[in-house]
Amino acid sequence: MIPAAFDYVRASSLTQAIDLLRNDPDGTKLLAGGHTLLPSLKLRLASPALLVDIGDLAELKGIEISETGIRIGALTTHAELFASLPLNEQLPLFRQAAGLIADPQVRNRGTIGGSLANADPAADWPAVMLALQAEIEIAGTSGFRTILARDFFVDIFSTVLEADEILARINIPRPTAGTRFVYRKIRHPASGFAVVGIAIALRLSQNLVSEATIGVTGAANHAFVGEDAADFLIGKTLSRENIDQAARLLSEATECLSDRYASADYRANLIQVELKRALLALTP
Ligand SMILES: Cc1cc2nc3c(=O)[nH]c(=O)nc-3n(C[C@H](O)[C@H](O)[C@H](O)COP(=O)(O)OP(=O)(O)OC[C@H]3O[C@@H](n4cnc5c(N)ncnc54)[C@H](O)[C@@H]3O)c2cc1C
Repeated sequence: MIPAAFDYVRASSLTQAIDLLRNDPDGTKLLAGGHTLLPSLKLRLASPALLVDIGDLAELKGIEISETGIRIGALTTHAELFASLPLNEQLPLFRQAAGLIADPQVRNRGTIGGSLANADPAADWPAVMLALQAEIEIAGTSGFRTILARDFFVDIFSTVLEADEILARINIPRPTAGTRFVYRKIRHPASGFAVVGIAIALRLSQNLVSEATIGVTGAANHAFVGEDAADFLIGKTLSRENIDQAARLLSEATECLSDRYASADYRANLIQVELKRALLALTP
């Protein structure tokens, strides 16, 4: 449980951090909250020559709310997202999801940027970002680029981030008035990670679904959008039959993961159960 030796730099600017990554992309790792990276170092799953601590970078901090949407710095911790009153007045989904992450120690140190960049298939924020149609802002040697969250996750622990890029911010468009949200998950009993987690943004007009976005985590190699299930719901009531059909479509949307705790069939069943529960929670 002792990491291999490494050098450590506390970055004083985003440019410095990017330069250090560019100098040795394979041998350098960014350190944010450390709640995934430090255990990986101790288990020697990672042995970088240099750790670049980005914890002082003011440009990666803070929650800004404007007329058009919400901007969240990558270093914002799960606990800050849970506690922010202005954020949760707009999107109580943040308190709901953050409160389901692990325990207070992890929530106090772990960051949303670290969670998204790490792309653990069982992490909670990816599903929430997909349901909110978030955009990820990435800093690199040639400036900033943005990408939709739905195009950000590539595979297990894999994203579109290049080795010399830093996830800088998350931009969330202001949802249409009347949109309601829910995040539910079945927790792994040991880690608290999602065995299956489902986030939904849903709007009803005269009892018919007019907008729906569904993000799923825990079930597959990476978080994904339940497009067919959401499309099916548009223009329909949240009747028992329609909810059942949406749940079936969602469980057929992916090849589920299988591990010692949960088989692929069990996860596929959990997708159905959790989507039904989530939609029932949103039914007026
Ligand atoms: C016991 C335990 C239980 C947990 N339970 C849950 C849970 O229930 N749900 C859940 O979602 N998570 C859970 N986590 C994970 C936790 O949320 C971590 O905080 C998160 O995965 C990583 O965030 P971090 O800030 O700690 O990142 P770090 O550990 O510092 O970094 C993780 C990885 O991301 C890279 N990285 C970090 N920030 C950036 C950035 N801005 N740009 C590019 N790359 C970056 C690092 O180089 C590293 O490779 C748990 C962790 C532990 C230890």
